[in-house]
Amino acid sequence: MSRTAVVIGGGIGGLAAAVALHRIGWRATVLERAARFEEVGVGLSLSPNALRALDALGLGDRARAVGVPTWATHAMRTPSGGHLMRAPDQGVPPLLAFRRAALHQLLLKAVPDGRVRTGAQVTALRANGPTATVICDDEEFTADLVVAADGIHSTTRGLLWPDAPPPRFLNYTAWLGLAELDHPVGPDGPPELRGSMTLGRGQALLIHPVGARQTYWALLAAADRPGVRHPDELAEARRRVGAWHQPVPALLDATPADQVRRIDIHEAPPLSTFVHRNVALLGDAAHAMSPDRGQGAGQSIEDAVVLAAALATEPTVTDALTRYDRERRPRTQTTAESARRAGQQVLNAGTAAHHLTTLSLRLTPSALWNRLAPRALAPLWDWQPPSLPDQPTHPASP
Ligand SMILES: Cc1cc2nc3c(=O)[nH]c(=O)nc-3n(C[C@H](O)[C@H](O)[C@H](O)COP(=O)(O)OP(=O)(O)OC[C@H]3O[C@@H](n4cnc5c(N)ncnc54)[C@H](O)[C@@H]3O)c2cc1C
Repeated sequence: MSRTAVVIGGGIGGLAAAVALHRIGWRATVLERAARFEEVGVGLSLSPNALRALDALGLGDRARAVGVPTWATHAMRTPSGGHLMRAPDQGVPPLLAFRRAALHQLLLKAVPDGRVRTGAQVTALRANGPTATVICDDEEFTADLVVAADGIHSTTRGLLWPDAPPPRFLNYTAWLGLAELDHPVGPDGPPELRGSMTLGRGQALLIHPVGARQTYWALLAAADRPGVRHPDELAEARRRVGAWHQPVPALLDATPADQVRRIDIHEAPPLSTFVHRNVALLGDAAHAMSPDRGQGAGQSIEDAVVLAAALATEPTVTDALTRYDRERRPRTQTTAESARRAGQQVLNAGTAAHHLTTLSLRLTPSALWNRLAPRALAPLWDWQPPSLPDQPTHPASP
């Protein structure tokens, strides 16, 4: 008889976990509180480690068919348009950019029919014995394992890790938009729409092509406190960067006002374990991080693969979760720390530090940067997934 799991949360992490569990022969049910999966967020990029994790789930080729190559890590400019770093004329960029909804749909389609319940909000859980029970409205779901992928404000973390500090504001905020253009972007489009980053003082604008004619942009800006909102967020973004170099104003003009999302950036302070009995935290619930390394979603897919590999090979669920915690906590917490530092360097630096950063970029030849940047990111990007058997060889017992 197959082993059972309840996955709390149907975001990228929860769906990746469900796909991974089904791949090793477990029966996983996803409980998602949202009534429907609507257009989820805006855009994101995945680096080689995340794409390899999708390969382990059997979804790498589909992801590569949907994602758009982006040079955002290589092409950098100043607000007036000066080039700090130029992307190579040839070659394939290491990142793929996606509309979030496209990546989400790809994962959702890979979960067997009927295994995702929407409008299902988990409010309590018990994890005292060989099984765990999740309470959702008036229903109870008992399983061998609970995977809590319920995001940065995780209910599960609050219930089972009551002493964990709440998410911490990182002193910057973001405007996220999707521009609908009337000409191609990405590899077939003009160079300025192949992905780039513009560095202002206390503000940075990231551009990723995410569809044949769609470009995702993210304006990140230093902020003293969270919760400040404007009646028209697109107008506020325009006030801040509307006079920057093209294509920034053109992208803002091509963005429907109702497509702009505003989000204050937080991280989850590090936990001393991701596991409580047979409940495992996964994705942002375990390690929500600053977006500056573009890793949060990728790390959640890695989590899913490592968790399934451990369950498929360890003799008991307890052993598997011990291994999951041992393998995932150091990597995700180091990544979070590196992302936080990168964000501070770009957004929370004073005037002198900003000038120093741009000067050092200006003085570094692009060809050298193009060789050094991937090397500096090698510990992150070179990660190799464990292989995932199609069926468990030693299914973990309770
Ligand atoms: C501005 C920005 C840019 C980013 N860019 C990138 C990037 O380029 N690359 C990258 O890899 N990452 C990026 N990230 C990080 C990435 O978005 C997250 O790490 C990732 O989406 C986390 O996925 P998750 O499934 O863990 O959590 P979530 O996406 O938050 O999903 C949690 C799900 O759980 C559901 N839920 C919550 N509580 C309950 C409950 N009680 N019962 C049932 N369901 C519940 C929620 O409705 C939600 O669907 C970025 C983040 C930000 C803020």
